[in-house]
Amino acid sequence: MNAKKSSAIFGFEELSAAIENYSGKYGEDVTDTSYFGFPVDAVLNAEKKLLSSTDKSVAYFSMEYGLAPSIYNTFQLTRPMSEKNQFFRHEVFSNNWMCDYLFKIEIDKMLDIPIYGGGLGVLAGDTIKSAADLGVSFVGIGILWNKGYFKQNFWYKHGQVPEEMQWDPYSYPGLIPLKNIVTIDTKEGPLALRLWKYYVYSYDKKFSCPLILLDSNLPQNSPHFQKLTDQLYRSDDVWWKIFQRSLLGIGGMKALRSLGYNIDCYHLNEGHAACALLEQYVSLEDKGQMEDFKNKFVFTCHTPVEAGHDKFNVSDMAKVLNKEYIDAAEMFGKATPESTQVNFTIMALNNCRHANAVAQKHGEVMRYQFPKYASKIDAITNGIHSHTWVSESFSKLFDQYHNVIGDWRKEPEALVKVKNLIRDENFRRDTFAAHQINKKNLIDIIRHWQLRDDVFTIGWARRIAGYKRPALIFHDIRKIIELAQDIGPIQIILAGKAHPNDNIGAAHIDDILDHIDELNSHKDLIKVLILENYDTFFGKLLTNSVDVWLNNPLPPFEASGTSGMKAIINGVVQMTTLDGWVVEAVNDDIGWIFGYQHSGENIGTESDLRLDEDSKALVQTLKAAMILYYETLKAGNLNVNSPWIDKMIHCVERSAFFNTQRMVKEYREKMWQIR
Ligand SMILES: *Cc1c(COP(=O)(O)O)cnc(C)c1O
Repeated sequence: MNAKKSSAIFGFEELSAAIENYSGKYGEDVTDTSYFGFPVDAVLNAEKKLLSSTDKSVAYFSMEYGLAPSIYNTFQLTRPMSEKNQFFRHEVFSNNWMCDYLFKIEIDKMLDIPIYGGGLGVLAGDTIKSAADLGVSFVGIGILWNKGYFKQNFWYKHGQVPEEMQWDPYSYPGLIPLKNIVTIDTKEGPLALRLWKYYVYSYDKKFSCPLILLDSNLPQNSPHFQKLTDQLYRSDDVWWKIFQRSLLGIGGMKALRSLGYNIDCYHLNEGHAACALLEQYVSLEDKGQMEDFKNKFVFTCHTPVEAGHDKFNVSDMAKVLNKEYIDAAEMFGKATPESTQVNFTIMALNNCRHANAVAQKHGEVMRYQFPKYASKIDAITNGIHSHTWVSESFSKLFDQYHNVIGDWRKEPEALVKVKNLIRDENFRRDTFAAHQINKKNLIDIIRHWQLRDDVFTIGWARRIAGYKRPALIFHDIRKIIELAQDIGPIQIILAGKAHPNDNIGAAHIDDILDHIDELNSHKDLIKVLILENYDTFFGKLLTNSVDVWLNNPLPPFEASGTSGMKAIINGVVQMTTLDGWVVEAVNDDIGWIFGYQHSGENIGTESDLRLDEDSKALVQTLKAAMILYYETLKAGNLNVNSPWIDKMIHCVERSAFFNTQRMVKEYREKMWQIR
């Protein structure tokens, strides 16, 4: 891990020598056989490949990573872990106030590394896991957010109240501080960044991919600089936003050099990372070489929402970065020569060899939005890491039918073979039984609220953003009450965080809390709960256990969406608008599609939420689904021939495609071109 080392010699000695305070703190967790309980060879192999000049390597830059080590590939720690890294208690806001007052959800779990905000980070985490599964020489670059994203509290009559998060990276299993420090020259003097590493292992633990995390919390930095890596997406001042992006792009490129890695492709995950291009340019002695280097950069865009594209005034950037960076930014990132702003999406599109949207529909939309770049915009549909998101009961089910399905762990694509089992009565019964196990598990975790496993249950959980329409199901609450009276009871579980400075998102949470209040007098027929602090643990719990996963973004603003993919691998039926990944499953009978459909070149506006029309469509769809559900499970007796079970099996069949193993293979061929 020394910059001077050019040959690919990397053994345990190099590994331990690179760790800050190795003998004082890490000596028992990192040994010549074991890395926090996993085989150390996987680490040494990965390092050798990244250092070698013959293996083709990819560096992937992302502001956030959702790695979910509490639910997948959990490392061991010989020392005690700080209590701050244990899962905290979760409160619930439901239409049964007494229950909320008396009880909390208590889970004895390790906190996931709190360096993600939502779907973008989870996708980055799933990508690095699948890269490891496929043995790709791959290194992730991110930031060690010392105070995470934020802790969410719901206060009655106040809505969401954000609180600062605390955690301890020094006792987080798998995380090691390196001796390497890189420095960025800024307008306010040198900014020092410590490098940390976290190795992400493959499912069979034979290979790994390092994730490098940058940290400004060092004594040699000014107190102001020390806080730069505190909170993910801090946005109360443009100064923070520009600094955080400079840190990722510029600091990231310097980190790769400091480690001596030989990189063939730099992948910018979102415009956040576009400053990497500036650093590449500034570092070149012969600026004429930049054209060749541009060929090594690729870019993924994740949103058609206008506010999702970073734009900064040149004058604001000039308060942070020195002139050579500003000159490069003006040259690379202006939408027009007269513009006084640098647009990070344009900067990436202008200078990267290739760009991609994250679903086919998003590809269309992105080409309308950026017609000048249409020829370099491809579409690679997102996925989820199957091993992380599949439940235990469904893993067992797939293993039990191994003869037909094959090695689905090695090749998640094999799940397509469940179609050969769709008329097998035992498989149908077993599929439903596996689902009921997951549903009972959920009910057990929130047992004080006394949900039932034979009641129609809907889940909605994701980042709270306007276009996702989190309160759509409550828009015409009278109709929902009528459905419950006419057809059967309903259970609704929600969760999600709004960005602390997003007033519209916070208003949606207020709205949800008010509606939950309104349903207080109907709690025998409708139970509604919203869980605090949505995270990857609850993401997995909810997506695999409810009967119906609700996804109702306003088309075409959901670029892909991934939570539904976590649901389908667990046979959870979809109720969704036609947007994002769902467009590619429209003919597969994976549930119900409802509401407004977008077509044509006019994207429309995300402030026109079409709540009246889509709420009517949702009620009609709910009615059909509830009737079918209560026919399928009548007085606890399963009708094994029900079309509901067909839908469940179709869901699993389609999950053969919507996974990051397939996605990373596509990246390898179309974007990275390393084979
Ligand atoms: C999967 C996941 C998301 C993404 O959900 P979408 O429906 O794609 O918006 C967000 N947050 C967490 C914690 C997740 O696990």
